[in-house]
Amino acid sequence: MNYKTNIAHRKEALIKLLDVIITHENEIIEALYSDFRKPAFEAVLTETNYVISDLKDTIKNLNKWAKPKRVFPSILNFPSTDYIYKEPYGKILIIAPWNYPFQLALCPLISAVAAGNQVVLKPSELTPKTSEIITKIITKTFLVNHVEVMEGGVEVSQKLLSQRWDYIFFTGSVPVGKIVAKAAAENLTPVTLELGGKNPCIIDNTANLKLAAKRIVWGKFINAGQTCIAPDYILIQKDMKNHFMEFMKLEIIKAYGENPKLSPDYARIINEKNWLRLANMIEEKKVFFGGHTNIEECYIAPTLVDETGVDSLIMQDEIFGPLLPILSYENDAEINTIISKYEKPLSLYVFTEDKKFAQKIIKKYSFGGGCINDTVVHFSNKRLPFGGVGHSGIGAYHGRLSFDTFSHKKAIVKKANWLDLPMRYAPYKDKLKSIQKLLKWL
Ligand code: NAD
Repeated sequence: MNYKTNIAHRKEALIKLLDVIITHENEIIEALYSDFRKPAFEAVLTETNYVISDLKDTIKNLNKWAKPKRVFPSILNFPSTDYIYKEPYGKILIIAPWNYPFQLALCPLISAVAAGNQVVLKPSELTPKTSEIITKIITKTFLVNHVEVMEGGVEVSQKLLSQRWDYIFFTGSVPVGKIVAKAAAENLTPVTLELGGKNPCIIDNTANLKLAAKRIVWGKFINAGQTCIAPDYILIQKDMKNHFMEFMKLEIIKAYGENPKLSPDYARIINEKNWLRLANMIEEKKVFFGGHTNIEECYIAPTLVDETGVDSLIMQDEIFGPLLPILSYENDAEINTIISKYEKPLSLYVFTEDKKFAQKIIKKYSFGGGCINDTVVHFSNKRLPFGGVGHSGIGAYHGRLSFDTFSHKKAIVKKANWLDLPMRYAPYKDKLKSIQKLLKWL
């Protein structure tokens, strides 16, 4: 099998992978439940089906994406035909996080394979059951020298990072992202860093509050708030706040019942360390709704926190859990003061009926991506790039862009021999005026 140059061989491997994943779908769903009680619905929507659909899309489009692309030639090279060839980088290291442990490991892997690379995948040690099933699936599908899984913790990751790679694709936290970038710099290895940030969700006084509450509750508390693009905090026009908080409370109860701990639709915090980190952020007197915790079950209720100051613990870093601070503003300057306090976030959401306000916010702030009048769903459109900017990440992927991410774009000019214009060749004597004229004309 020659995956580097033979598209049919790559396709064959991906078709096999699709078959193996479909065969093991129930085991994947069970593993995700066992790791942190991810509800089956969420497991299907955001993990297995997402990966299956990505695979189908890649298999369908692979020939088209891999074909050299003819581009308009430069008149300076006349006569020529110009192409972009997609070349596999070679050996790719993929390091995955725990929060969407199947999808965030498999999707980059699919594209790396589609683009003709060899892959080593390091899944998260915090979701051991999911890592185990990933290893099983990969071992059943690929030869070791094509795709290999290296399970283990930080030490395995560090060991892998000390080796030389042709591309590193990392999804995880900002501090570890910096470690990866430093390791990559040693060998000038290109990287994609899919990181996190403090994602604002702005609501003005024209917004449909009831619908906003419903969409925010879904985007925030899916996966128990452990989503890199979940709204991190709300910034709402002061007069609307009380009304909005009541709607939020109602929507939480509607989704998860009076006691979310008993809901089959509510996941758990990944481990005790993260539970402690989150539990520490809860200031009891600021809790408007929720706030219940249970360490044995790694449970933290969907929690609304009222008017916590920007200096409070919860407003220091990305929350990455089911706690939602609700801050109010009176004017645009106050929005700006808060948003500008943080590094560029991975996403931003704005709820408004005022088109001008929405445009102003979208254009004023730099962030990875986001939505007007919804949360999180920009992730699901494969035609949109997914990635951060500044501290929230480097590079982007999804759909065709994923294939391009794992391909070096090689520029080729195919020059014809039937004509060879003499202008560019030395000696240049008497040619300067003519070239200046020509360049001006072009
Ligand atoms: P993490 O950075 O702690 O771990 C990610 C991976 O890096 C794991 O496989 C881990 O083993 C490895 N790792 C951890 N410490 C390391 C070290 N010192 N040296 C080398 N490797 C190390 O992240 P996490 O806790 O798994 O995930 C949560 C973070 O990931 C959040 O910040 C979240 O926003 C971010 N995230 C981003 C995206 C995205 O697509 N942009 C998606 C999911 C999660």
